[in-house]
Amino acid sequence: MKNGTAHLFIPGPTNIPDAVRRAMNVPMQDMRAPDFPELVLPLFRDLKRIFKTETGSVFIFPGSGTGAWEAAISNTLNRGDRVLMSRFGQFSHLWVDMAERLGLEVDCIDVEWGEGVPLDAYRQRLGDDKGSKIKAVFATHNETATGVTSDVAGVRAALDETAHDALLFVDGVSSIGSIDFRMDEWGVDLAITGSQKGLMLPAGLGILAVSAKGLEAHKQSRMERCYFSFEDMQASSKTGFFPYTPPTQLLLGLRASLDLIFAEGLEQIFARHHRLAEGVRRGVHAWGLKLCANEEKWWSDTVSAIVVSEDVDARQVIANGYSRYRTSFGAGLSKVAGRVFRIGHLGDLNEVMCLAALASAEMSLRDAGARIEAGSGVAAAQEWYRAEIGRTLQPR
Ligand code: PLP
Repeated sequence: MKNGTAHLFIPGPTNIPDAVRRAMNVPMQDMRAPDFPELVLPLFRDLKRIFKTETGSVFIFPGSGTGAWEAAISNTLNRGDRVLMSRFGQFSHLWVDMAERLGLEVDCIDVEWGEGVPLDAYRQRLGDDKGSKIKAVFATHNETATGVTSDVAGVRAALDETAHDALLFVDGVSSIGSIDFRMDEWGVDLAITGSQKGLMLPAGLGILAVSAKGLEAHKQSRMERCYFSFEDMQASSKTGFFPYTPPTQLLLGLRASLDLIFAEGLEQIFARHHRLAEGVRRGVHAWGLKLCANEEKWWSDTVSAIVVSEDVDARQVIANGYSRYRTSFGAGLSKVAGRVFRIGHLGDLNEVMCLAALASAEMSLRDAGARIEAGSGVAAAQEWYRAEIGRTLQPR
């Protein structure tokens, strides 16, 4: 079955808007041309709006989110530094793993998968740390593996209440540009994202925003680094030329995607993601299934991780979606493999696309033996979307 289009409902890479695809489909450019900075410099400026920072600096590394994690750590910390982290899904796990492999002394709080950053435990550890041994606190804003969004403002409050001056690192790979993120207001020092989620581009850019405090810490940091060194990138953000060959087409695509984002408006994008996510959640609940995010306060507006019943293998649901209905869903990773499948609902997406995701998931679930009523999830989501769209069309 190869007619029509395939359907991508993984939580990144996300669908690429036509305008972005077209912007990238150009002959190769000269990355040393005198007018190249006219493309590059406004990107740094405009990305600051995405991070909601006026005082921070933005760096664009050819790489991915994982590269930006490494850049953040290796430029601001030292081997043996104690850091406070929490692990509640595959991506927070991988960040802990990286921190350990780079030689940090990680104080890791393990949390049930389905919950997020444990604010009380963070407050406690920070309050107990009288000698300020903890140099940095890490938070995965949106755990893509479990569909859990954490309270970054709450982490800032824990730091402030305990008068602790550790750096605050935030992984915003599947949140920034899709759900509310406020670097300056929340006092985030290192904020990380990638190009392939809310920015609606192919993978290939690791994007990092660094506060003035983060840049100060950089001066004391002696970790080995080369490709990811801030110095070279600080020069780039002034000259508009990269220290190595930049992926020019991605930068052109980034220009187009930022233009689309500003035309829609960041707050409108957050509202759309909430509306779309809520329709998917209503569908899931109408099936009688639960989300992996085990309380409403954790529900993510960019990805829903859906727990199947005991007698169903989520891997089979995903396989059915792909082979029978040309639909890609996200897999359950590591601990939740086979128990969970994920619907990514971020990026260039609308209501009817989400209904397609639910329709395909319903068929794939039933084919895998799930006892859910055909059409029930789609119907629940339809009613929500109709009501929401009707509400926005009412005269004010
Ligand atoms: N952090 C989160 C929350 C993610 O979802 C991902 C990837 O999906 C990463 C980090 C790793 O990013 P990348 O695959 O771009 O290296």
